[in-house]
Amino acid sequence: MTETASAKQIQGRTGPWEIVLGLEIHAQVASKSKLFSGAAVGFGAGPNQQVSLVDAAMPGMLPVLNGFCVEQAVKTGLGLKAQINLKSRFDRKNYFYPDLPQGYQISQFDQPIVGEGVVSVERDDGTTFDVRIERLHLEQDAGKSIHDLDPNATYVDLNRAGTALMEIVSKPDMRTSEEAAAYVKKIRTILVYLGTCDGDMEKGNLRADVNVSVCRPGAYERFRETGSFSHLGTRCEIKNVNSYRYIQQAIEYEARRQIEILEDGGKIDQETRLFDPTKVETRSMRSKEEAHDYRYFPDPDLLPLILDPAWVKAIEETLPELPDAKKQRLQSQYGLSAYDAGVLIIESDRADYFEAAAQSLFEKTGGRDAKLVSNWVTNELLSKLAANGREIAASPLPASDIAQLVELIENGTISSKIAKEVFEHMWAGEGRPAQIVEARGLVQINDTGAIEAAIDALIAANPDKASAVKEKPQAIGWFVGQVMKETGGKANPATVNELLRGKLGL
Ligand code: ADP
Ligand code: MG
Repeated sequence: MTETASAKQIQGRTGPWEIVLGLEIHAQVASKSKLFSGAAVGFGAGPNQQVSLVDAAMPGMLPVLNGFCVEQAVKTGLGLKAQINLKSRFDRKNYFYPDLPQGYQISQFDQPIVGEGVVSVERDDGTTFDVRIERLHLEQDAGKSIHDLDPNATYVDLNRAGTALMEIVSKPDMRTSEEAAAYVKKIRTILVYLGTCDGDMEKGNLRADVNVSVCRPGAYERFRETGSFSHLGTRCEIKNVNSYRYIQQAIEYEARRQIEILEDGGKIDQETRLFDPTKVETRSMRSKEEAHDYRYFPDPDLLPLILDPAWVKAIEETLPELPDAKKQRLQSQYGLSAYDAGVLIIESDRADYFEAAAQSLFEKTGGRDAKLVSNWVTNELLSKLAANGREIAASPLPASDIAQLVELIENGTISSKIAKEVFEHMWAGEGRPAQIVEARGLVQINDTGAIEAAIDALIAANPDKASAVKEKPQAIGWFVGQVMKETGGKANPATVNELLRGKLGL
């Protein structure tokens, strides 16, 4: 696990540039109640219906730490293979905003609950790279200001105020927009496996602040060797991006913007920016010069948080099988490639479905081809489910049906091509694969006599093509196609090929 990210060069007027990316992910802790109050956490309640006196910051109210949220943060830290700090502390981050009634946010500053860790990330092509984690800390979320309900007033909804967030800060270890999206995807997968965040990005329960800078080739390597940020360009932080696509678009736009400024002889102001998905551009929100002085100080209402090592150990023992371990196991147990295993583990339901199908095939046939099961699950089934807006856990086709379909291919009853047709009938609810093959007469023709007859007729009708194929052997494809057409796609393609080669003298 030492692979680092790989940069792509962007050609500018004055030479090549590279991107450097570090992410701060905000993940809402999956918990029934808030970080320091007993108010309910949930989506869909009416405005200000989930607000306790603590969340509304009424005078004299005191925060009481929610032990379950602490457990969730520790679990997450363990899942990120990170240092669990047995002593951490809560600080007040002071700023004024209408949706923050306390006038400060309770967060963790220099003593976070989780320290350094590392995450292995899958790229789309199946290769992996490591992203180092700097820290994870617990903090309160703010409420919501609503500006579009009234032309003259702003409304405030405090339902979200005080909800527990985990902020996961990465080192600047990503080099392309694809890598940044892949990193967020992997973090999401880990948190969902752990049950510490529901990962719902549409609702904003998982969102990222994306830090972008650009530099000349070689500078990043010097940063990694020395650890000195002075080798890197000035970064801009794009706040609250909540989809993989937006993350990529924001990075691409921002990198180009910075390169243009630098090539025109300007300098980058370190600032906070917003991504506008309609215009596909980033806009300045505030510069660091006018940035708030947060006047962090330890929250006097809360004691330092001390964890018992035995308690941490007990949590570690309850961890589920994590994505990387599952990936390893799918590879060794079923002989899958790293790529296939990587696609399956993105959601544990996917992996479970695959395993159920592969297991039932194992029992019957010794599971010669788990790769074929994996292909059917990740290609045909997943696209069908996606097209119909359904989750794999609620798949109308049970895993045993996919297993049976693969079994029919493996034992030569149907060809892969016919299997696709059978799959459509399965999806339409016509029954189990074997029944459909039977009822629709789709059994593969393995009978060489019948295939031979079709070939003879074809050659007799096309003598010119038959002699031309000797000079151009790849033209055999036309003959294969014709025989398949002749037999309604049911002839065994391997047999057709073999017989054709013989008869054409190839
Ligand atoms: P702040 O609260 O000021 O944003 P943090 O330490 O919480 O500071 O987060 C800084 C983030 O910016 C980290 O994810 C870090 O990896 C990233 N980062 C720091 N320097 C650079 C840089 N030059 N280019 C890209 N990302 C950077
Ligand atoms: Mg930040």
